Amino acid sequence: MSDIAIASTVPQPRSGALAIDAYVPGGSAAPAGVKLYKLSSNETPLGPSPSAIEAFRAAADTLEIYPEGSSRVLREAIGRAHGLDPERIVCGAGSDELLSLIANAYLGPGDEGLFTEHGFLVYKIAILAAGATPVVAPETALTADVDAILARVTPKTRVVFLANPNNPTGTYLPFDEVKRLHAGLPRTTLLVLDAAYAEYVRANDYAAGIELVSGAENVVMTRTFSKVFGLASLRIGWLYGPAGVVDALNRIRGPFNVSGPAIAAGAAAIADRAHIDAAVEHNARWLGELTEGVRGLGLEVTPSVANFVLIHFPKEAGRTAADADAFLTSRGLILRAVKSYGLPDALRLSIGTEEANRAVLAALAEFMAGGRVG
Ligand SMILES: *Cc1c(COP(=O)(O)O)cnc(C)c1O
Repeated sequence: MSDIAIASTVPQPRSGALAIDAYVPGGSAAPAGVKLYKLSSNETPLGPSPSAIEAFRAAADTLEIYPEGSSRVLREAIGRAHGLDPERIVCGAGSDELLSLIANAYLGPGDEGLFTEHGFLVYKIAILAAGATPVVAPETALTADVDAILARVTPKTRVVFLANPNNPTGTYLPFDEVKRLHAGLPRTTLLVLDAAYAEYVRANDYAAGIELVSGAENVVMTRTFSKVFGLASLRIGWLYGPAGVVDALNRIRGPFNVSGPAIAAGAAAIADRAHIDAAVEHNARWLGELTEGVRGLGLEVTPSVANFVLIHFPKEAGRTAADADAFLTSRGLILRAVKSYGLPDALRLSIGTEEANRAVLAALAEFMAGGRVG
């Protein structure tokens, strides 16, 4: 065959790009005239800290000025809150940006990026966008399985992504298991611990991964301001990593990847301990009540340590997840269908305000009693 490629008449994206199924965010539309409860994107019902809102407003006075490019003020605030060296922190436009930067820095054609069966979908997108090959490890009881992950590691595995706790299942790996995973990986494979929901976890055997990052050259931990801090719209994430990874990411990231208002609001938010505690308290209460309440209706709920629960519906006609979704939507209750995560019979419910949570329990009771749309 000739090595002259068949001429295309339009620009072609790199291989892998068109293999991506674009991420579909949680829905946000209710029927006209019905009060909307958006419980589809794991946002906090408490909103951001008032001091974060104030900092954001104050930043409006200097919108013509480029932000400080390293997000120094934000990295220092994060460093104070967690006892970390700000030099080992990278901030991004959401942790999604950081996951993409990691993929772009450590993966290319011929490399493999590994994640688990029901793992966060952004990993697959980031791996494919970098031109690399996604490899999926099966889970056990909707939970990451260390042995299954290690069994899929090959000499081509450059990055392993683990959401802990995972979205959309809400399950987690105890820190001992995370350490066992790390111990079984080649030293040249980067382990990414995505701890987007870490603040919510109350299990004694859980750790987000700071200790592991501090003692290894091949582990990073990513965090977000989108969940417990209530700043999803501002797009702020951060990463704690070894100096080598931090250096690589700082070379490839955009020079002003976090906006000035985001830096200011994030720094204020992480300093407001009382607001975080209130959000975690509200979550702990309703995580328990919703789990028990939904189970009491005869539905299976996966045990969650995060700010959402995965509810499993029967396959029988009229009672499926799709039927429930339609019924709840007609009541203004927007949950997240998770078919794209390989969970066609489940819906993910974010924990909302007391009013929203009670409305969900009442609507689900009606649905299980035979209530239908219309
Ligand atoms: C919500 C979420 C994130 C956060 O994404 P941002 O880009 O920071 O908003 C990261 N990882 C997981 C698993 C999530 O569910």
